[in-house]
Amino acid sequence: MKSSAFIYSTRLEKYSYPPEHPFNTIRATKTRQILDSMQLLSGDGRSEVPPEPADRVVLKKFHTARYLHTLQRASTGRWEYEALGMGLGTTDCPVFKGMYEYAVLAVGATLTAVHLVLDGKAHVAFNPSGGFHHAHPERASGFCYINDVALACMVLAEQGKRVLSLDVDVHHGDGVTAAFYDRSDVMTISLHQNPRTLFPGTGFENEIGTGSGRGYCVNIPLPIGTFDEAYLLAIKTVVLPLIHAYKPDVFVFELGADALANDPLANLRLTNNVYVEIINNLLSFGKPVIMTGGGGYNIENTARAWALAWTVLCGQADLLDVNIGAGGVMLQNTEWQGGLRDRALLVTAQQRDSVLPALNTTLDILKATVFPLHGL
Ligand SMILES: [Zn+2]
Repeated sequence: MKSSAFIYSTRLEKYSYPPEHPFNTIRATKTRQILDSMQLLSGDGRSEVPPEPADRVVLKKFHTARYLHTLQRASTGRWEYEALGMGLGTTDCPVFKGMYEYAVLAVGATLTAVHLVLDGKAHVAFNPSGGFHHAHPERASGFCYINDVALACMVLAEQGKRVLSLDVDVHHGDGVTAAFYDRSDVMTISLHQNPRTLFPGTGFENEIGTGSGRGYCVNIPLPIGTFDEAYLLAIKTVVLPLIHAYKPDVFVFELGADALANDPLANLRLTNNVYVEIINNLLSFGKPVIMTGGGGYNIENTARAWALAWTVLCGQADLLDVNIGAGGVMLQNTEWQGGLRDRALLVTAQQRDSVLPALNTTLDILKATVFPLHGL
């Protein structure tokens, strides 16, 4: 039996961003509540594992000592002007009490998942409190202070693994792609809303890596209004052939849920059924998957998407279409009718006309520029 680890601790519940901030740490708690009510955190090789806080030595593999020191001081209320130059104390990355402890624990949860996989104790693992893909070595950005995704890839690569980082958050995974831009031992693939229309403004199709990393950075910018069928076209025609060619030993999967329709910060139109398809495809490679959370600013939809993703990841996909409602799952969402899946969304002709030509152009460019570098 393949074992699955859900990384969580109530210690994470002690921390929260300021109340007006869109990033809500309660999403992990809600995800856990749903899964607990479905009895999907134990049995059949599943377990709930508490995170170890990340070690400072490990954090320095990606972040500078100066930045970590400043972040820790800011977390205790000692904010210095120099911190602002590091992105600390902005609207996106406010300074709040305990932010360092939270970041170290939430990031440590992803690294706990990495170690479970490296030690052969888990085949798949999920840290819903992770996915801070915008943090840079010396700069906080986009609600992210410490980059767990980059650190996870680094630790795995150090152990000789070929790592495939797949990022489906609606925002470009800029901190991660930059970290491995000149390396071929970590391939980064990021699907995101067109950076002309969304933060962080990078992640165009012509950013394909440099030096020995050329062809190992793949960016798929998506038009506003991108719907399930279009998204899956990109997965099928570009992402899966590249994964087949790359032959990774392990996946690091950043599952920000802000590409879902009705996310208040972005403009794609996905349903969570897309995530089921993607995870099933990843599992078909037979390699370990380390999954993290990320964005997702419609809280109920995000928690339900992550619960759904875990259900597939831990091999219980047959439960998805069961109408769970009477017995336990408590979801305060009027769009939800029972079960974890979203209802299919209507796609208008106008939407197809505005999305498909632009998307096909992007996919053709990637096939022309990146595929040949992998013998495709
Ligand atoms: Zn995002």
